[in-house]
Amino acid sequence: MKLISDDGIRYDGRKVDELRPIRIEAGVLKRADGSAYVEFGKNKVLAAVYGPRECHPRHMQNPAKAIVQCKYNMIAFSVGDRKRPGPDRRSVEISKIISEALDYVVFTENFPRTSIDVYIEVLQANAGTRCAGPTAASVALADAGIPMKDLVPSVAVGKVNDQVVLDLQKEEDNYGQADLPIAMIPRTGEILLMQMDGHMTRAEFDRAIELGVGACKRIYDIQKDALARRYTVEKTEEEPAEEAPSEQEG
Ligand code: UDP
Repeated sequence: MKLISDDGIRYDGRKVDELRPIRIEAGVLKRADGSAYVEFGKNKVLAAVYGPRECHPRHMQNPAKAIVQCKYNMIAFSVGDRKRPGPDRRSVEISKIISEALDYVVFTENFPRTSIDVYIEVLQANAGTRCAGPTAASVALADAGIPMKDLVPSVAVGKVNDQVVLDLQKEEDNYGQADLPIAMIPRTGEILLMQMDGHMTRAEFDRAIELGVGACKRIYDIQKDALARRYTVEKTEEEPAEEAPSEQEG
């Protein structure tokens, strides 16, 4: 299937090294301790963080640190063919890899015996949801005020029609030759999540990592901007001083 035109334009009009439009909002849910909403092109993902709170069941408690438990879920109408609700092999796998990436950045030793619960709900999917997930969840953790080393931007790179491309969308994911999601800490260069589906040569792999790292830096700036917008107090007109209650004569 031809997904890239002869002049290098992709199925959805992007160039090979172009990200989909990204939008991030922090603090979108009132009852969660922290939350974030992320759009990665047509992906729409919500992340909610609760905790640190007492870990149940108790046998899961770690006396030395908090555990980070992420639940990734795709809602039934997030995909073309309705997805059967509830966990499946894929969502258990994605929950595990995101939990491990987030566990690495949170200062879990500050909160022994507790659980930090992270819920990722995919409202609409168009490939790359396992990357939109940690991107949203790490903003939600920061929004919850949980001490952490850094945010975790994430993106998928891949190979389509023998070309290395950034941020695969659905058709490229389905009919491309390789899919390589990564999540990282741009400041230190540490890679916290990497999977690979398909085949690439060593040179293609190096180019893919180069593209992915560059994109993670850009996503990181959008994450920081979302938090800055959430926590910057808008300058409003000076509010009138509260009137002192008048003394009742007795
Ligand atoms: N998908 C689907 N039904 C499913 C699972 C996935 O239609 O049960 C679609 C969905 O758009 C998803 C894409 O296939 O984003 C790619 O799935 P993959 O497992 O590669 O994970 P992702 O790219 O979302 O991280």
